[in-house]
Amino acid sequence: MPEQALYDVFVIGGGINGCGIARDAVGRGYKVALAEAKDFASGTSSAATKLIHGGLRYLEYYEFRLVREALMEREVLWAMAPHIIWPMRFVLPFHKGGIRPAWLIRLGLFLYDHLGGRKLLPATRTLDMRRDPAGKPLKPLFTKAFEYSDGWVDDARMVVLNARDAEQRGATILPRSKVIGARREKDFWEVEVLDTASGVRSSHRARMLVNAAGPWVDTVLSQAFGKNQVHNVRLVQGSHIVVRKKFDDPRAYFFQNPDNRIIFAIPYENDFTLIGTTDQDYKGDARDVKITPQEIDYLCNAASEYFAEPVRPEDIVWSYSGVRPLFDDGASAAQEATRDYVLKLEGEGTGAVLLNIFGGKLTTYRRLAEHALEKIEQVLGAKGRPWTAKSNLPGGDFGVHGYENEVEALKKAHPYLETVHARRLVRLYGSEWRPMLEGRTSAADLGQHFGSDVYAFEIDWLMTREWARTAEDVLWRRTKRGLYLGSAEAAALDEYMAHHAP
Ligand SMILES: Cc1cc2nc3c(=O)[nH]c(=O)nc-3n(C[C@H](O)[C@H](O)[C@H](O)COP(=O)(O)OP(=O)(O)OC[C@H]3O[C@@H](n4cnc5c(N)ncnc54)[C@H](O)[C@@H]3O)c2cc1C
Repeated sequence: MPEQALYDVFVIGGGINGCGIARDAVGRGYKVALAEAKDFASGTSSAATKLIHGGLRYLEYYEFRLVREALMEREVLWAMAPHIIWPMRFVLPFHKGGIRPAWLIRLGLFLYDHLGGRKLLPATRTLDMRRDPAGKPLKPLFTKAFEYSDGWVDDARMVVLNARDAEQRGATILPRSKVIGARREKDFWEVEVLDTASGVRSSHRARMLVNAAGPWVDTVLSQAFGKNQVHNVRLVQGSHIVVRKKFDDPRAYFFQNPDNRIIFAIPYENDFTLIGTTDQDYKGDARDVKITPQEIDYLCNAASEYFAEPVRPEDIVWSYSGVRPLFDDGASAAQEATRDYVLKLEGEGTGAVLLNIFGGKLTTYRRLAEHALEKIEQVLGAKGRPWTAKSNLPGGDFGVHGYENEVEALKKAHPYLETVHARRLVRLYGSEWRPMLEGRTSAADLGQHFGSDVYAFEIDWLMTREWARTAEDVLWRRTKRGLYLGSAEAAALDEYMAHHAP
């Protein structure tokens, strides 16, 4: 077993929280490694509703700390990565005798607008749905609505871009590497890692471990650390369905349901509408989570209460499910469990300390990482100062209003690309379209064609820069081209990737 160098911080888990902490820590000067058991964002971080939001609903549960922190993060994250994060307006229809009185919603939105951090995002306004185009796809009962601001994120890309940036700053990033053991030596940890692709085991040393395994945080504590009776997180399943687009408007909808829950209907990947989510306690391994027939009915029925044309199970073209790793605060209903995060140090005073991460939202990952760094500093001593608020993720260095200019620049440099293709490339890769397309002067230079607008040049980039190894990594995480490619095309892509792995 080859022995490795001594890291300051070894992070377990390549979801948004693990990758965010690794990036912040290496940027401050710590020696960092991160191990992800499968692919980046293969857990909860690719299964979200994908909102960069304060969480309007959490106001009802008095989660003011969380909502304020999340609201403040919206514009910070947008500026960090304007290719994968952008503002979205949400239409919240209501009618007399509805689920919540209009004054209560208005009060919530007033707080939402004023709790902090909103400099560029427009404020709430009231819509007359008989005139506004947002009223068109809905039942005529909904004559009024509020329209408010939040943001959208490509969740899986946000994860991999954090991992990439951490690597560029000097972190050791280990995909497909499962932590199977962690043993305290005198003043460091001995970490055992299994390369799940090759079966090779390796051993690493670190002064501090961060357990950011999301829904598996307790499993890691019991299996790798040998602890008994661990129960820190409550697993709450959430599922989404994707249907052909129900409306043309760029705005999303916020629908209230009679059970007091809410769902969103969001414009998705140009041609689709994303509808979700559900909230139900989950038992079992989070890897096996799958949408249930009851969830399908629930989402179809809830959306059909609002849309004039009903949403039927046979309309579903794709669905996905994830498990929220919520800190177990003893709440009785899944939807009431706190969405805030909790960080806990173990073994302070010994030479080998463990930091466990419980809970967290995509929206608050950067702040969670800053709080984790405060704990890391307590143990290892301070190095650099907080730095991520003013940073850019790879490809995100073109400013919050720069997207259209980037598209124009790309089209000028590569006029042989279709406009929709150019727009997609800037959305996913931002300014990195330049190195990605360097030296290509015609469609023939794009390489093998796999269907839709997927060509080998993009796959090669994803394999060499973003650790993609399978068609699934590419079609459902690095991109969402799985919505456009069939199974034979995906198989051809898998074959290409198996033969061209770097
Ligand atoms: C349905 C749903 C909707 C959501 N919507 C939103 C939203 O709109 N906005 C928002 O801000 N947040 C949202 N969230 C919350 C957000 O998605 C999660 O809080 C966040 O993704 C959790 O990230 P994580 O890094 O903690 O966990 P994960 O993404 O699950 O990452 C943990 C990683 O650890 C790895 N791992 C496990 N065991 C090991 C091991 N032994 N060794 C190495 N690696 C290991 C796993 O493979 C996994 O990749 C939503 C969540 C759900 C479920």
